Amino acid sequence: MSSSNSSTHCLPTTLQVSGPELRILPTCKACATPSLATPFDIRMLVIEDDAGDAHLVERALKSCNDCFDVCHAETLVEALELIQNDAFDLVLLDLSLPDSFGLEGIERLSEHCPQTPIVVLTGLNDSKLALDALERGAQDYLVKGEWSQESLKRTVRYAIQRHEVQTENQRLMARIQRQSRDDALTGVLNRHSFTTELEREWARSTRNHSPLSCVMIDVDLFKSINDAYGHATGDEVLRVIGQRIQAECRECDLVGRYGGEEFCVVLPDTAERGAVVWAERVRQSIADHKIIVADKCLSVTASFGLAQRQPSTTQPLQCVDLADQSLLMAKRYGRNQVLSAYQIQGRIAASMAGHLNDLSAIQAHSIMATITHPLGLTASLSEAAFFFERTALATAAIVDSQGILKGILSEDSLIRELSSTLGWNTSVEQIMNKHPNYLPLEASASDVLEMLQRNSMREVYLVSRGAVVGYVSRMHLVSYLHRLESAKPH
Ligand code: GH3
Ligand code: MG
Ligand code: MG
Ligand code: MG
Repeated sequence: MSSSNSSTHCLPTTLQVSGPELRILPTCKACATPSLATPFDIRMLVIEDDAGDAHLVERALKSCNDCFDVCHAETLVEALELIQNDAFDLVLLDLSLPDSFGLEGIERLSEHCPQTPIVVLTGLNDSKLALDALERGAQDYLVKGEWSQESLKRTVRYAIQRHEVQTENQRLMARIQRQSRDDALTGVLNRHSFTTELEREWARSTRNHSPLSCVMIDVDLFKSINDAYGHATGDEVLRVIGQRIQAECRECDLVGRYGGEEFCVVLPDTAERGAVVWAERVRQSIADHKIIVADKCLSVTASFGLAQRQPSTTQPLQCVDLADQSLLMAKRYGRNQVLSAYQIQGRIAASMAGHLNDLSAIQAHSIMATITHPLGLTASLSEAAFFFERTALATAAIVDSQGILKGILSEDSLIRELSSTLGWNTSVEQIMNKHPNYLPLEASASDVLEMLQRNSMREVYLVSRGAVVGYVSRMHLVSYLHRLESAKPH
């Protein structure tokens, strides 16, 4: 191994301040970049076992007004040792070495120093190999006996520049990918990428028959934080809550920002019971944590609803929906708590036990809400979006001009379709469920309960002679049971 003068890295600046005055610095002949007046080097490692070839390269480089600082290694192993202790601006690699032949050398070098550009030196007969080397990431190649001092310098200079541009492009690409994947405020996945990842996990969990749980998290009374301390403080609170959630997650868990102050977490390989334990830990962590924002010390709490993937739930968003319903119940039961779909079923069943007869005796229409402006078949997706915003319903009944129920559109399927190629002007008829579940107006409250328990529907529509009259939501039913419970003499 041989090494020439001491090394100073090439500075990619055009002007340097030296003393009180600005002066334009001399330009490095190798890379055309102005430099400090001190010797200015490109640190190169030449890996070449042929002493004659190595000598030619070194001589050509050293004659370049001290621009190059050349190290020489005769084998790949020797080169890797040098790389471990030193940084090089470029490696010139002979493809035929005693301990490495062909592309293997590039792979091993790239593994050890991915940030260093490689130019290969190849014999006349190796031109096919040299082209393969470019495919594997080498920046350029020089054919032995065919290069001149000028072409050597040019090749080195452009290889370094090209590599810098590639590295910068990769950095920018990674940033763009991160920006399109993550929520800008909290750094967790945004809703779109969360949904995509959820579908992947869901498919894996279905394939492997492994459990999977979804947890919906909503900050309690968050509006009052915004109102009292301002939006910027609210933002900081959301950031901290995102961090608290992520701190309790494994690598394989998915955390997404689902709405304004709502997060959704997918826990693969976790059954509902485990998810409750996890959620309880996060709930405690949020409740215990004092958030300091601009000398104010805030305490916040959050409510958690969760559900496990069931064999009967075929779509991932049905599971999210069930978790969301559990969350609504957690809010209803007083906030700052964790409730699972299973626990809710238990509570409803317990409430029902005392009121089964009452529920059977109650007609569903006595607790239903009427629908004043149902969506027509020709309504567009943008009208549907306004409908969901206005009514806060999870589904919309779609009727023909006679008011006859023709289908049901869920908010989730609207969101799903909007991320496909369909535009806002598409009619709801194209994406609605054309075989909706519904009940006759004469159905009892216990029929409604049974239907709501059978699937993840949030509203059951009541129909009279084909025309939709109203709906009973889970909330209507739970509130009704709650009222019955409260009215019961103790
Ligand atoms: P609840 O316990 O029932 O969930 O009450 P809440 O006040 O949290 O719920 P509500 O839905 O009434 O209010 C949510 C608020 O979250 C309203 C909205 O302005 C605020 N919000 C949504 N996104 C953001 C955001 O990115 N930053 C801030 N600071 N506020 C947000
Ligand atoms: Mg050789
Ligand atoms: Mg909310
Ligand atoms: Mg909230």
